[in-house]
Amino acid sequence: MAIKVIDRFPGANARILAVRDDAKAPEIVFTPYPRGGTEALWFDFRVHDPSPPAAGAPESLKLSLAFFETLLGGSNPAAIRPVLRERGKAWSRLKPPEVKTEPDGLQTLSWSVPYPVEPHEFALCMPYTYDELATALEHCKGYWTSSDIGLTQGGKVLQRLSNDILKGCKACPNPHGLYILARQHAGETPGSWVLDGMLEAFSRAKPVNWCVWIVPFANLDDVLSGAYGKDPFPHDLNRAWGDPPMRHETLVMRHDIRRWAQRCKPELVLDLHAPGASENDGVYAYSQKNGTPESEKANQAWLNLFAQALAPDYAAETFARVADYPSRWPQPWLGDFVRDAIGTAAVSLETPYCAIRDTALLQKHYREIGQRLARAILTRWGRGWPATSGTSRP
Ligand SMILES: [Zn+2]
Repeated sequence: MAIKVIDRFPGANARILAVRDDAKAPEIVFTPYPRGGTEALWFDFRVHDPSPPAAGAPESLKLSLAFFETLLGGSNPAAIRPVLRERGKAWSRLKPPEVKTEPDGLQTLSWSVPYPVEPHEFALCMPYTYDELATALEHCKGYWTSSDIGLTQGGKVLQRLSNDILKGCKACPNPHGLYILARQHAGETPGSWVLDGMLEAFSRAKPVNWCVWIVPFANLDDVLSGAYGKDPFPHDLNRAWGDPPMRHETLVMRHDIRRWAQRCKPELVLDLHAPGASENDGVYAYSQKNGTPESEKANQAWLNLFAQALAPDYAAETFARVADYPSRWPQPWLGDFVRDAIGTAAVSLETPYCAIRDTALLQKHYREIGQRLARAILTRWGRGWPATSGTSRP
């Protein structure tokens, strides 16, 4: 018996505290690794045992998460349901954990997974990095064009997707403008899966005279390093949109959003996130703050549209919210920049990591959320939805 943990691949995150090669009760104890940031939550690692016992092997391996109360949103253990994928199989969502509370109050959350197994991967939610995006783009059959728009602070190339605005239309002035970002907080992979559904929905509908620009991995450095990227140092990406900007990524995206706004009628900037770990009451949205009566009306119209599109199964009962939680940095958010520089509505959408009420979330649910959002925008901007909107993807 020689259990191995693999935590060096794009997006991996785990601080392994103990690996117990106990033939009766093997266990891995881990906790999400802050990677120099103030908050921790995202985890993703692989487990492998190249030499399981030939006979009398245990039937399960315990994966135990320590220091739960130190994670962002670590308040309700029963709501934490990570995902597991055995090699060659689909992701599955685990049941709520077994909770062990020590006399001093420290809690450990444990999930039992099959043993011995082919190498398997264990994460808070389905990961989403370059491979998953490449699969999505392939599925969209060339609808999206990728352009390099600048560098991250770590020197990686930041990419933006765009559609062909005028396909089939020779005189389409002033296109509808939609700009989408995901992963300002790198560990928030539910936002990427929602985007995955939107990419597919728009590529199927092929709306004419729309200008859709998308940054799929806004905090690319942390996406690849596996850092959670919520309130990291030197600066949270979504608190770095001021003038002057406090991160190179926001400097780059500010230029790009201005370029976009010059090429269309900018109508909506949509920012895809995930909330605290334990939140499971549904998708909800934060609107821009301190807007003019006119901009607040425009924001409210989008919030109403999205609430209706996601009701009743995916929307939280209180869908439209105001972000009034304490922030470590006072600098402007994306919505503030969009309000002041472009004068456009901006909606930030929070999609849970694990479940919405009794529904354990898998890729198909996230994609459906994205498809419903896309369909709502298509309906509003006067583009019909094709009859063949179904998907057979897992
Ligand atoms: Zn976020």
